[in-house]
Amino acid sequence: MHALLTASAPELLALQEAGDASAVDIARAHLDRIAATDDRVHAFLHVTADAALAAAADVDRRRAAGEPLGPLAGVPVAVKDLFATCGVPTTAGSRILEGHRPVYDATVVARLHAADAVVLGKTNMDEFAMGSSGENSAYGPSRNPWDLDRVPGGSSAGSAAAVAALQAPLAVGTDTGGSIRQPASLSGLVGVKPTYGLVSRYGMFAFASSLDQAGPFARDVAGAALALEVIAGHDPLDSTSIPQAAPDLLAGLERGVEGLRVGVVAEFLATDGLAPGVKARVEDAIQRLGKLGAELVDVSLPHAQYALPAYYVIAPSECSSNLSRYDGVRYGLRVPAETAEQMMAVTREAGFGREVKRRIMIGTYALSAGYYDAYYVSAQRVRTLVTRDFADAYRRCDVLVGPTAPETAFRLGAKTADPLSMYLNDVFSIPSSLAGAPALSLPVGADERGLPVGLQIMAPVLGEATMLRAARALEADLALDPVPSGANALEAPRP
Ligand code: GLN
Repeated sequence: MHALLTASAPELLALQEAGDASAVDIARAHLDRIAATDDRVHAFLHVTADAALAAAADVDRRRAAGEPLGPLAGVPVAVKDLFATCGVPTTAGSRILEGHRPVYDATVVARLHAADAVVLGKTNMDEFAMGSSGENSAYGPSRNPWDLDRVPGGSSAGSAAAVAALQAPLAVGTDTGGSIRQPASLSGLVGVKPTYGLVSRYGMFAFASSLDQAGPFARDVAGAALALEVIAGHDPLDSTSIPQAAPDLLAGLERGVEGLRVGVVAEFLATDGLAPGVKARVEDAIQRLGKLGAELVDVSLPHAQYALPAYYVIAPSECSSNLSRYDGVRYGLRVPAETAEQMMAVTREAGFGREVKRRIMIGTYALSAGYYDAYYVSAQRVRTLVTRDFADAYRRCDVLVGPTAPETAFRLGAKTADPLSMYLNDVFSIPSSLAGAPALSLPVGADERGLPVGLQIMAPVLGEATMLRAARALEADLALDPVPSGANALEAPRP
């Protein structure tokens, strides 16, 4: 049991090919782990146990019959509740979609099924992906398996918590300004935000359409690369999808970092509020990259300091437009009232949480006549400057490195009263989001409390293969144990 739960996705494929485990064994082990631990972790909003076991049995039957199988055959995956799942409740963490059952699958979900992955269920999240802790979920927070009194990060809180808790070897999440990387950092996982447009957003409920991207979580780089290969690639159903096939991310993964030019972002390491324990681990990791043969280059992103304020104009503006569709007319919650207009008002009042309302109001204000140029247009100009900073940096280096998040996992409730302190969690992840460029978080050790620290590795647009290769070299060198440990950690499964 223990071995099936700690195995990576590539290991689970190998175990099945060798006849040492069936897909049903693997699915059962993970469903049992969810049943035994999710009362404390609360990673899942909905577990699709019957469908998972049926999909696993189908993989076993086809393997026995010698039929071809997909690249994730029999590998369990947890899916953020922002992705539409046909016939399966999809709430986006919001009351306004309570009980909503989409009539179609998001492309990411369809591709997981086509790859013969076993979908375990839907994971908890900050409402409509707005947040950095999971505490903005309408259904209660998820908890960090490394310390159950702390948050797993957000907004893909449940996806991170599920993989860290050994409830699933893989999960998919979404990242608009950091929602895969920051929870990966806080939960000791590999989390990848791909290039904007690499993964289809069809059926992924929109938050800020010029930034939203889907991506994987895993406890290892190879698992994340494999999952990304499966979900990436052109989709005619998403007009922002890059018209090219999924890249090969596994072939060059073990090539090492010899001669790779690694840019160290000076401003990130000099940021006020960067916890000393995070800084120390990140600096160690950078030195290790140098010892492994990478060429370390000092790099400046002078406009990165304006990325966070620009994001908090752009993202709420797009959110105010995207969320206007939740009006009680066609799906989700409807609170009856005298007139249609009153019905919409009371439905939105009852259905949206505080943070979502705050964003809708900020965005509506920023887009309104008279303020549009002062706020929205200015923010877009800042976005251009940030993108140019990256272009300059990538003339001199292949990847950039820095911390993923300024702190390790914080206590539940520590930042809920102060939105700005919550927003500051994404100060390092937002710049590459504005540039539409890929970035990942890799675990690089623990702070003085034993909580995981993430290194962010950023790359130019479509630089995923190089970025993953650098992460893999460091992962192999560090050889960390991805199973949560510590005084207040979730218990490891029995061997
Ligand atoms: N935490 C950021 C926000 O609240 C980013 C969220 C995300 O990437 N979806 O907007």
